[in-house]
Amino acid sequence: MLVLNFHCIGKPKRELVDGEREVCVDRNQFAEILDVVSGRAEVRLTFDDGNRSDVSEALPELMRRGLHAEFFICPARFGDDEFVDEDDIRELRRAGMSVGSHGMDHVRWRRLKPSEIDREIVRAKRVLEDASQAPVETAACPFGAYDRRTLTALRAAGFRRVYTSDGGRASSTDWLVARNTVRRIDSAESIERLLDDSRDPASLMSKGKRWVKRWR
Ligand SMILES: [Zn+2]
Repeated sequence: MLVLNFHCIGKPKRELVDGEREVCVDRNQFAEILDVVSGRAEVRLTFDDGNRSDVSEALPELMRRGLHAEFFICPARFGDDEFVDEDDIRELRRAGMSVGSHGMDHVRWRRLKPSEIDREIVRAKRVLEDASQAPVETAACPFGAYDRRTLTALRAAGFRRVYTSDGGRASSTDWLVARNTVRRIDSAESIERLLDDSRDPASLMSKGKRWVKRWR
């Protein structure tokens, strides 16, 4: 399978941080990309960060096309108008979408202290489970960053699948799943090319490494 990862759709009102501008996708561009991936059974869709546009922009477009997606949310952002809250999570679930953890505070999951591991991995999962009234068994690493200790903690906490931003294809049996970040400069054509080019694993691996380095 090939997993695409989106962040915000359209223009959020808040000030963008940490390179978010590069990964905010225009509304029309988003619709065109969805048209390209509709009917491609190997494509999976994910959304990181819990932006308000998950519900206001992405959800209607996904539903219109009968597409499923998984949304990775940071519960410390509940109550901030620019991000989704508990009601939005329930709306996403009612619409048949999945909800996973993106950690509590959107910090890099590398060199975390034990107390941070407890907050980011264990507590965030519990808060999201309370909000969604369902088990939360998948996680996506903020900034695509992880280390061995974090992965061990994720396994111990019962996560059945963990998404990275390493780029390339993934197998449906992977526990650590590589995703491909959709950027502002992407288009329906570039995504179509990605789907075709990804038969060559070497080219995507180097692309993935570059992306990870950029966030570290
Ligand atoms: Zn993120």
